[in-house]
Amino acid sequence: MYKYIIMGIQGVGKGTQAKLLCEAYDFVHISTGDQFRWNIANHTKLAAKVNRVISGGNMVDDDLVAKVVSERLSLHDWNYGFVLDGFPRTFAQSEFLFENYNLNAVIHLKAPDSLVTERMLARRACSRCGLDYNLIGHRPKVEGVCDVCGGTLMTRSDDHAEAIQKRLADYHEKTEPMLAFFRDIGALVEVDATRTIPEVHEDIRLGLGLPQPQPLNFRTFHGSDKTAKIETAGKKSDKNIQGVLP
Ligand code: AMP
Repeated sequence: MYKYIIMGIQGVGKGTQAKLLCEAYDFVHISTGDQFRWNIANHTKLAAKVNRVISGGNMVDDDLVAKVVSERLSLHDWNYGFVLDGFPRTFAQSEFLFENYNLNAVIHLKAPDSLVTERMLARRACSRCGLDYNLIGHRPKVEGVCDVCGGTLMTRSDDHAEAIQKRLADYHEKTEPMLAFFRDIGALVEVDATRTIPEVHEDIRLGLGLPQPQPLNFRTFHGSDKTAKIETAGKKSDKNIQGVLP
């Protein structure tokens, strides 16, 4: 069982890298920010409590976040492990985590404030399928429209200059001090996040000591029996992971 935390300043690419890691090793991605955004998009009771806090660039109350995370983790819906993204952000939140879970490593993505600010101001997401875009590195073919599903691209409610400033200040004050603690206990894997997405992914993989995910079995695509092909393809991730994880 692999239990990882991915940390780093806002806009550094935690969500992108967590998704890639989860895709490669069949881990479950647990993002508190995504959970809150889902609640807001679906007008839940929780949304009413957090909507304005988040749009203003403020942090949600520790107890409320811990409740949301503990409910999410209690689902135990992972086979191989999970990557926690956006939690913990304060010492109080990390206490909750350490009391309940043995973690394997904390990935720290590093980049300067100037770069992440630029990235956040350029960030867009499809309002229909959720695909991420960035007007600097990954522009849609037609402005404001998702290349894949044709949905409208939106800016996150907290990606405006004032909220970004508040979020970065909170990170330096409340979250960054935790890194020294994780470093002291030998759990921290530091990665330069100014590099390209594939390079950062590779550095994370090496830092965690994860083996290269194996390419798909050739038979998966070229078997003679159609039913067998589909069944094999369905078990793709099981086969890969069991074969490669130490
Ligand atoms: P993120 O997508 O991780 O940047 O999270 C978006 C927003 O959700 C944050 O700016 C906070 O307002 C809220 N949030 C997410 N995770 C936490 C957390 N662990 N503690 C407090 N607030 C959080």
